[in-house]
Amino acid sequence: MRTPSGIECAYFYGNYFRGKSDEECRLIGKQKAPNNWTPDLCLTCPIPGILRANACKNMSFTPKISKNWFLGKRHVTIASYCSKSNSIVKSPHVGCGMCHPFGEILDD
Ligand code: SF4
Repeated sequence: MRTPSGIECAYFYGNYFRGKSDEECRLIGKQKAPNNWTPDLCLTCPIPGILRANACKNMSFTPKISKNWFLGKRHVTIASYCSKSNSIVKSPHVGCGMCHPFGEILDD
């Protein structure tokens, strides 16, 4: 579904049926302030870009809402984990390298 920022995200859900305006992020979920989800977080969230670049089904994400100490704005940071290789994925746009080894591309 398309987020309020206009980006497609698999974790965003909006219910606008019959004048409703219920929106939620199903990755962050319902958290107490200051870690609650607000639509402005979608604008800089890395998740839509990661999902476009890497469709791996074994990767899971742990979101964290951080605050920029200088500007005072909140933003989403994520940690990703691969359940197949049982390891932390350092570059979620690329993946952990188990299913699609990096050398495969370079050897051709
Ligand atoms: S905060 Fe990120 S993961 Fe959540 S709905 Fe917005 S873009 Fe998607």
